[in-house]
Amino acid sequence: MQNYCSTVITGRARGLARATLAMACCVGGAHFAMATDALVHNRPGSDLLQACFAPAELAANPAEKSPRKGQRAFDRPEPARQLAPFQPVSANLRGAIRRVKLPPGKKLIALTLDLCEQPGEIAGYDGAIIDYLRKEGVKATLFVGGKWLRSHERRTRQLMADPLFEIANHSAAHRNLRLLSGRRLLDEVEEPQRAYEAIHERFGKDRCTAALPQAWQSLPNRMSLFRFPFGACNKASLDAVNDAGLLAIQWDVSTGDPTPAQSAKAIAREILNSARPGSIVIGHANGRGFHTAEALPLAIPKLKAQGYSFVTVSELLAAGTPEIVATCYNLRPGDTDRYDDLATAFRHKLPKATGPGSANWSTTIEPKR
Ligand SMILES: [Zn+2]
Repeated sequence: MQNYCSTVITGRARGLARATLAMACCVGGAHFAMATDALVHNRPGSDLLQACFAPAELAANPAEKSPRKGQRAFDRPEPARQLAPFQPVSANLRGAIRRVKLPPGKKLIALTLDLCEQPGEIAGYDGAIIDYLRKEGVKATLFVGGKWLRSHERRTRQLMADPLFEIANHSAAHRNLRLLSGRRLLDEVEEPQRAYEAIHERFGKDRCTAALPQAWQSLPNRMSLFRFPFGACNKASLDAVNDAGLLAIQWDVSTGDPTPAQSAKAIAREILNSARPGSIVIGHANGRGFHTAEALPLAIPKLKAQGYSFVTVSELLAAGTPEIVATCYNLRPGDTDRYDDLATAFRHKLPKATGPGSANWSTTIEPKR
């Protein structure tokens, strides 16, 4: 038996649906729906969420968590479009940002969650994490692949509309950017910008957003942060990202959550042992953070009790001085170089798309340099 609500409600049905659907849903879903309703709709700044989405639609759907292999419906990239205006990153912010140095006494942490999606799959949406963050009012930055944005447009709109979350670029299809150059490299950086901006444009034409012009205007019309897949970069890819007006955001606290054997307790322990004021914590919300949803309730209340507040990466950057390095890594320089071989290994799985806008998609990853 399903224990979630998968009904999608549109248009005028929403007001009525909010009042009745929670009761109509099967037991587990109704519980989630009511909890989400109470927490989302009492939260300041959640007007767009209320106007555009019924609680049952916002709530976690366990069937969405696991990535689905053999799905190529979204492999073709977002078509070319005029991007929102931007300036290349200035000299003092170029490079890989690992954390932020804060003034004494400020105890801020940026929780970041990656939503990676590769060709030939539809990655998951770990709604239990998002529900928990909403319930606790915990801010987070979501690094989202261009493919994920397109394959999860309704979820993307929900996350865009929620002031708890900052949406950021995690490349088009999670390729190792150290192995790409030229147009292929640029496409990995720019395609998610196109996807985000196209979704933002469509969302802006909805009746629910048109009714709240002030709330709508507060949503960013472009992404301004980037995270490298595999945590791997080189000078050329760092330059490409910074030239595209995107700050390169890495991390100083790694949860290790894409390893199935990394238990919730172990993830929580990593966060609690390693986080300090100005830290950027990395986890996953695409179904590959295997125990992240159970780990966050173990770690976050303890950090709050220690006086920490959770902010988005942009808010963290605004509160202090970023610590910037010339290369990307997980725990120590060079430790993500091993993914050069992994990325090369999966080149045979890349799709050979045809048709408009697909010329750059049949990417051949170049030899290791
Ligand atoms: Zn990733």
